[in-house]
Amino acid sequence: MPTKTKSVKLPASSRGSAASAAKAKSNSNGTTAKGKPGKYVYTWGDGKADGDGSQKALLGGKGANLAEMTRIGLPVPPGFTITTEVCTYFYDHKRTYPKELQAQIEAGVRNMERIMGTKFGDKAKMPLLVAVRSGARDSMPGMMDTILNLGLNDETVISLVNATKNERFAWDCYRRFIQMYGDVVMGVQKRAGEDHDPFEGTIEHFKEEKYGTHHYEDTKLTAEDFQELVKRFKALVKERTGKSFPNDPWKQLEGAVGAVFGSWMNDRAIVYRRKYNIPTEWGTAVNVQAMVYGNTGDQSGSGVAFTRDPATGEKVFYGEFLINAQGEDVVAGVRTPEPVAQLKAHLPKPFADLEKVRLTLERHFKDVQDFEFTIQDNKLFMLQTRNGKRTGVAAVRFAVEMVKEKLIDWKTAINRVPADQLDQVLAPIFDRSAIKAAKAIATGLPAGPGAASGKVYFNADRAAAAAEKGEKVLLVRNETSPEDLRGMIAAEGILTAKGGVSSHAALVARQMGKVCVCGAAALNIDYKAKTLVVAGQTFKEGDYLSVDGTSGTVYAGEIPTAPSEIIQGLLSGNKAAQKSGTYQNFVQLMDWCSKVTKLQVRTNADNPEQTRNAVSFGATGIGLCRTEHMFFEGDRIDAVREMILAERPEDRKAAVAKLLPYQRADFAGMFKELKGLPATIRLLDPPLHEFVPHDSATQHALAQKLGVSADRVAQRVRELHEFNPMLGHRGCRLGISFPEITEMQARAIFEAAADVQKKGIKVKPEVMIPLVGFKRELDLQVEIVHRVAKEVQAEKKQKLNYMVGTMIEVPRGALTADEIAHTAEFFSFGTNDLTQTALGMSRDDSGSFLPHYAELEIVKKNPFATIDQSGVGQLMQLAIEKGRSTRPDIKLGICGEHGGDPDSVKFCHKLGLTYVSCSPFRVPVARLAAAQAALADEKAAAAAAPAKGKKK
Ligand code: PEP
Ligand code: MG
Repeated sequence: MPTKTKSVKLPASSRGSAASAAKAKSNSNGTTAKGKPGKYVYTWGDGKADGDGSQKALLGGKGANLAEMTRIGLPVPPGFTITTEVCTYFYDHKRTYPKELQAQIEAGVRNMERIMGTKFGDKAKMPLLVAVRSGARDSMPGMMDTILNLGLNDETVISLVNATKNERFAWDCYRRFIQMYGDVVMGVQKRAGEDHDPFEGTIEHFKEEKYGTHHYEDTKLTAEDFQELVKRFKALVKERTGKSFPNDPWKQLEGAVGAVFGSWMNDRAIVYRRKYNIPTEWGTAVNVQAMVYGNTGDQSGSGVAFTRDPATGEKVFYGEFLINAQGEDVVAGVRTPEPVAQLKAHLPKPFADLEKVRLTLERHFKDVQDFEFTIQDNKLFMLQTRNGKRTGVAAVRFAVEMVKEKLIDWKTAINRVPADQLDQVLAPIFDRSAIKAAKAIATGLPAGPGAASGKVYFNADRAAAAAEKGEKVLLVRNETSPEDLRGMIAAEGILTAKGGVSSHAALVARQMGKVCVCGAAALNIDYKAKTLVVAGQTFKEGDYLSVDGTSGTVYAGEIPTAPSEIIQGLLSGNKAAQKSGTYQNFVQLMDWCSKVTKLQVRTNADNPEQTRNAVSFGATGIGLCRTEHMFFEGDRIDAVREMILAERPEDRKAAVAKLLPYQRADFAGMFKELKGLPATIRLLDPPLHEFVPHDSATQHALAQKLGVSADRVAQRVRELHEFNPMLGHRGCRLGISFPEITEMQARAIFEAAADVQKKGIKVKPEVMIPLVGFKRELDLQVEIVHRVAKEVQAEKKQKLNYMVGTMIEVPRGALTADEIAHTAEFFSFGTNDLTQTALGMSRDDSGSFLPHYAELEIVKKNPFATIDQSGVGQLMQLAIEKGRSTRPDIKLGICGEHGGDPDSVKFCHKLGLTYVSCSPFRVPVARLAAAQAALADEKAAAAAAPAKGKKK
């Protein structure tokens, strides 16, 4: 039993209470983590647990699932979780702890001692050794710190030697502990410019000195060697930190707990949280668990496995293990592990247990699990389980197949696929003919599916810098570590020479949806020379390589990519592709989405091909046709320029007349593709100077074509110059200055509508006036549109079913929406401009400072990608209320880029919009997000219903 003097001296604070900590610990829904007041430590072991799997907010994902696995009878070594409330407290109270914590930790250790039959710091018998690990609510692989073998010191190592009769093992554990603790708690890490971790450097130096080569295998090192390394490691710690390595196990535990809480705020954890939108307020829990050992000999091992393949989604037992190794050896990528199926040949009994565990886990958690196990002397232990991270392709397959297996229902399946991952299934594959001609130079493990080609970079910073310059980049490393995160985010694909399918590179790549090949052992990378030698060829930084993350093949050079089976099946009608599982699963998922969705998904399309693609993806109409995009095709730009250069209305009318047939043909093409679905067509919007040539050679050529002087052209270009074009002569202001443009566009729309309708195809044009801030602006434009509609209907002897509405994209438009709605039959929120004008932040220039804003958390997400709900969102809400007050059935949509962003789509659902509109390839993502939003409503309604029932 620990005495008072030997206990963990956690600096307690008298300020703050459990209640205030619990209050601070609210999740994104505003509910608390629900810890019992004053209870900060939750124990598990021996079939009993204080917590359970539902308490992820309080215990973190790892802690909650360790408790749950214990409850369902799986073999879990005992331990305890220090709650996330303590993390919040720690940061709110200058890195101190609640005063109750110390006694609770001591009780937790005593509980472990009781179950294990060992004592922490025992100098005579087998000592209790523990692992200290982080565990946030959502897993953050490799981002925070872990310390293993804690409790070893100069005395307990001897107890361990005596108890295990394995001197080599005991000293190996001790040196590993000093290495980890030295790194994580005491900060002995590689310094700027160093390529090697200083502990690894010490090992290499020792091997060189004693065995003449630093390639000498670790497995051949002796007990004496490890004993020597312990000495050298301690000296290294002292030299680098000026402090001695702590010998007292309770001091060690205090340091480790503090370091794990501290790692919540390390750089890589912050970068990770930002990328995956994990709130800082969540905090991490700390798990202290009795050590079991996979490195006690040939009857032991460690592994990580998935209940199904997380890359392809196939229902196979997937994972890897190493005999005689600790867990971190498997993920570190230093030794290449064996596939889990081969464990059967080495250790049949624990393998059979593991297969049972695999089934139990899926049946219990009803989702694919990613778990860690250790086999100590032929006995299986479970160290962790969590829902497995998966590629978009695997997510779709798991979801659809689990419905078939009756593990989940189809509504759950919809929620199982993260909407922002769905575009991964649309990711390109290598062009089949090009790949036949390509030269394979190495193979590795297929760790992240898809095809990527890019310039090779051997360092994450250089890769990120090159990507910023617009290069396509492949990050090539021996193995990756969390420090490489920035480079991995920037890269098209990741290639490593070492490590297995659960190495850091593989896990992180899959989660990001990056193409990844790892463990391509034939690669010989020289970081200093910045070269890669493979298959007798040398590749320098900046040379091209291509990787196929589905097969694991590495190719020399750049290879063109081809669309995925879904694209081929949906857009090209390729029959073989339509038979593929990927295609069929995708179609099934989309069908389920259609069953629940309230919010429609339209598309932003400017030509017939885009329209066809979007309709194939399930778009229910065009939400935005930017007519000016049609002005650049072929030689129509000449007519546009003639129109702009015209000085008199009659000249302008003549020029505009030349554009009419082009526009009419385009509209007709789109109407045909839509087959009766509605099309919102926006009249000319951008400032005119965007269409005129700015260099003198093109100005001369244009002058010649138009038969005017070059000076005249140059002068008109100067006249069109604006200091603030985005706030200048654009939008409906153009149509007001040059009504003949509005007239021509309206005529092209209605004539095309009449022509297509005549062929028996329904047409529903919705004419949209941009950048309206005043009702009178809209009135003047709408008058023209109605007049032209009347004329065309009379000329063509056809009744047209059309609407006229406006974009809401300047704050004045939103604020006066009640007035505007007298004229507008529909609103479409132009959230690109509405964000720009509401924030007073240029959509074109904000890239220079927004990343810094995100770092400082001034903005949580880029407001031009995800709607700024509390700012711009309020303007939308107001416009909706005001619009409806005038016209209760007003049709409402959104056509800014936000229409394809899952969070924004969910927000639009909440606002009660009729549709969102996004680019054709985002349509599936938006459909999934819309279905998920509808399901969230259903769930909320169901949760409210029994409460009502009870009151009766
Ligand atoms: C918008 O402003 O949101 C919009 C769709 O229009 P554009 O991007 O063409 O300005
Ligand atoms: Mg706009």
